[in-house]
Amino acid sequence: MTVRLYDTQAQAMRDFAPVDPERVTMYVCGPTVQSGPGIHHLRAALAFDLLRRWLVHRYGRVTFVRNVTDIDDKVLANATDAEPWWALAYRTEQEFARAYAAIGILPPTYEPRATGSIPQMVALIERLIARGHAYTSAGSAGGRAGDVYFDVRSWPAYGALTHQSIDAMESAADADSRGKRDPRDFALWKGAKETEPADAVWDSPWGPGRPGWHIECSAMSRRYLGSEFDIHGGGLDLRFPHHENELAQSTAAGDRFARYWVHNGLVTVGDQKMSKSLGNYRLAADVLAERDPLVVRYALGAAHYRSTLDLSAESFDEAEAAVSRIRTFQQRARRMRGTPSRLTATELPAAFADALDDDLGVPQALAVVHETVRAGNVALDARDHDRAAEASVQVAQMTGILGLDPDDPQWRDPHGGAEAAALDRLVRAMITQRAEARTNKDWAAADRIRDAIAAAGVVLEDGPEGTHWSIHD
Ligand SMILES: [Zn+2]
Repeated sequence: MTVRLYDTQAQAMRDFAPVDPERVTMYVCGPTVQSGPGIHHLRAALAFDLLRRWLVHRYGRVTFVRNVTDIDDKVLANATDAEPWWALAYRTEQEFARAYAAIGILPPTYEPRATGSIPQMVALIERLIARGHAYTSAGSAGGRAGDVYFDVRSWPAYGALTHQSIDAMESAADADSRGKRDPRDFALWKGAKETEPADAVWDSPWGPGRPGWHIECSAMSRRYLGSEFDIHGGGLDLRFPHHENELAQSTAAGDRFARYWVHNGLVTVGDQKMSKSLGNYRLAADVLAERDPLVVRYALGAAHYRSTLDLSAESFDEAEAAVSRIRTFQQRARRMRGTPSRLTATELPAAFADALDDDLGVPQALAVVHETVRAGNVALDARDHDRAAEASVQVAQMTGILGLDPDDPQWRDPHGGAEAAALDRLVRAMITQRAEARTNKDWAAADRIRDAIAAAGVVLEDGPEGTHWSIHD
């Protein structure tokens, strides 16, 4: 067994060999928490959730770090008098966490916020200055506190990730260009500006200010994973400048940094890039309100992680049909067996493991799941209980690894799913019965029904639109 991954830097498939054969280390760039997640954020996080789950299966342990960019130009820009930047960042971070959890994305081992690692960023910038790869521009920008820039011309390997020569690159747009030696030099530290909030400022050897965006990932990956780690992940759109700059900073400071660079493809809607100006931007919360979270996970995870994923109503309908085939088979198999025998040891189908070993081939792995479901249904029709039971256990194992097992308690969400729908119908039936009893002046019956509802922990609220119910917690 060898896991192979497409390494963006090598531009080739490579055999995966972790630094520590018993513990894989992964760093994935997390969101800038300026506004709630779009569906593309879920796709990116899910790609690495699937990779992590497979590596856990293969190696036993994965230390997974995903950061939260909670201080940034965009966070400051979206803050208001009523909601300061740190409150906006925290509220948005929770929105991301809820959306991730809704589709079964496992929480990271560590989820550091940028604002929690400023001393580590300052130390890294000091190392870069000491090695001659960064410089301060104090005094050159109209009396403001000093900026610190990475000196791209001092580092011949700059461009190594995306195979660009410096002269062909775009200028860095992340800072005032005054005081830069080269327009491509990017900000490591941004001197405080009078127009920015006083509580978005930290002390540093170069005066008060805040970190540039790129430096946080170099500092936090080192803090939590060490100077060399296995996999660095992120969306394709982060390759340049973000990942190129991370690589330059860390290696110029003397760190080995990431051994494999893995990038997920982007999401389109109607074959167009998703954007707020085109009106096709899909918020994760809206999609999750319309669809079963398990179906959302399936729809976002079923395509290969490197492909561009075009989302449409049909892709969610197809995912719904696929989930339903798996669920129906497992229900049939359970009826036959009486009690589930999920602990029965069965070999994972080799084709499934081979597919996931081969650059996380989820589409091929799902094809094996559905072949097993088909064979299991044939066995059930033929009353071949042994073969049907074996297929059922295999399907449970495979879908368990992919986080797509319909029987996982994860999917018993109080806001969706078959059980919630059944509960809703029962409570509504009782509400109707209570109303009928009152109309008939059968107060004893009305009270009995009300007490039974209350005993179940259900709270009724009468309003102009009718009676609403909720679970008392
Ligand atoms: Zn990053």
